[in-house]
Amino acid sequence: MSDYDVIVAGGGLTGTITAQSIAHYSNQNLKILVVDRNPATFPGRKSLAGWVCGDACSKEAVDFMTDRIKVQWTKPEIEHDVKGVMAFSPDKETAIPFDGAGYMLNRQKLPEIQNERCRKMGIELENEISLTGLIYEGQQVIGVQGTDNKTKEPFKKTSKIVIDATGVTSMLRNGLQNSTKVEKRIDRRDLESTGRYIMYFEPGEKDLTEFDPDYCIIHLDQDIAPGGYGWVFPKADNKVNIGLGVEKSLLDKRNQRLGKKDNVESLMKEYLHRNTAIQNAKLSNDPEDINNNSGVFQVSVRRQNDCMVSGGYMMVGDSAWMPKPIDAGGIGPALIAGTILGNNVVQAIEAKDVSEASLWQFNLDYIKEYGYKTAGLELFRRLVQQMTNDQISYGMKHFLGNMDVESISKGEHPDFSGLGKIGMIIRGALNKTVAEGLRYTSKENQWLVQHYNNYPKEPQGFDQWNKQLHQRLNESFTKIETFGS
Ligand SMILES: Cc1cc2nc3c(=O)[nH]c(=O)nc-3n(C[C@H](O)[C@H](O)[C@H](O)COP(=O)(O)OP(=O)(O)OC[C@H]3O[C@@H](n4cnc5c(N)ncnc54)[C@H](O)[C@@H]3O)c2cc1C
Repeated sequence: MSDYDVIVAGGGLTGTITAQSIAHYSNQNLKILVVDRNPATFPGRKSLAGWVCGDACSKEAVDFMTDRIKVQWTKPEIEHDVKGVMAFSPDKETAIPFDGAGYMLNRQKLPEIQNERCRKMGIELENEISLTGLIYEGQQVIGVQGTDNKTKEPFKKTSKIVIDATGVTSMLRNGLQNSTKVEKRIDRRDLESTGRYIMYFEPGEKDLTEFDPDYCIIHLDQDIAPGGYGWVFPKADNKVNIGLGVEKSLLDKRNQRLGKKDNVESLMKEYLHRNTAIQNAKLSNDPEDINNNSGVFQVSVRRQNDCMVSGGYMMVGDSAWMPKPIDAGGIGPALIAGTILGNNVVQAIEAKDVSEASLWQFNLDYIKEYGYKTAGLELFRRLVQQMTNDQISYGMKHFLGNMDVESISKGEHPDFSGLGKIGMIIRGALNKTVAEGLRYTSKENQWLVQHYNNYPKEPQGFDQWNKQLHQRLNESFTKIETFGS
């Protein structure tokens, strides 16, 4: 007899949504425990640096959750409304809208409210538990173990299913012993090092490409944010979440190219300093920001883990590498996945079967809703990462048609198959290479979407499917490097 029906490891944004989804779909009939290493005073904190995030989230994803599991977000967890995200080219001559209307969240307030909701739904919460691994019985995960930081005693609890929502650094995933299908380690090039400040400021020059109270602004710029981007997200007319992300090996190359020795922190300072719309910026001392106004953390920018379940074990959110490859937006996919997963868990427990085969449906349901497009976006990200500023500016100005912009704004890979056809004059050899690269990733994207539509219905077909995926991706990664400048 298990201690719980379900243990959710990690009570961050994803863990608490997932727990609520399970409670919703089971009519609060399952015994659920959420375990987190944070003290009760700092729920959902990612690390000692705070709840490091850009805090932006699309309304569409929140509606997905609210419609299905009836969890509603309002103020104060929503701090500010935005009309969308605008991505500016390095020369700032072109802007692409992303994602539609959305919200700026207060990531410190949100988990407090989420936890309150969990308690009302009968979900138990245990704090100050550092989990180190899973407990197994044969091929089946049957619980979690770690240390209770309050008593320094070992902590062990059993359950029918363990949900891993411990974030990108998940020790549970890294040490998983009952699956050869779940990927354990991430390639360093699929991680972005990111940092941000939450600040109040005095208005400087009025320049809507630098600060816009109605739009989240993204700056693509390989000098200030190599392999990533800078962002200026409004929290009020005079309050901002400003930060940037870089890919480490591309930062090294950029430093060599410019003869500099920058790191994420020095680039963040420079990015803030050069913003003419933001003057005399000061870190926010609001009670709900005070422990969260400056920090650095990492985020993955690849497709979700190729397999997200094993016997008695499921992963969701950052632990499954769900953030979108082109913009590192992880909240939307986490809300979608957490909502879906609740239903899968309840079905499996009702069927009295929590084997890998029984939990498999989660892979299929997530891919159908969201995951079908992420491998293509991963290729697109790799291509853009190795372009120069001039190439990105030229490409955004000349190669993006209305349809492509619409695809990008919906989070789909744009279709560049018409690029370079008769009548299109492309200036310079480097831009021809960009056009070829874009045509190539569009073509590969079509294959990948099709391949994900054929994701095996049962675990038996996975090895063959995954071999084909990796063969194709490895060829693509090599080919994409030939489009580099
Ligand atoms: C700088 C930055 C900017 C970002 N900007 C955006 C953005 O604007 N929009 C967006 O959509 N996404 C953004 N993201 C991504 C987004 O923050 C994540 O996708 C989201 O926080 C994922 O939530 P999670 O609950 O899966 O993981 P986390 O938020 O990392 O939560 C994990 C939880 O598990 C707990 N935990 C971890 N290990 C253990 C352990 N061993 N034992 C017990 N508990 C443990 C932690 O204490 C924490 O509470 C950004 C990320 C970064 C780093």
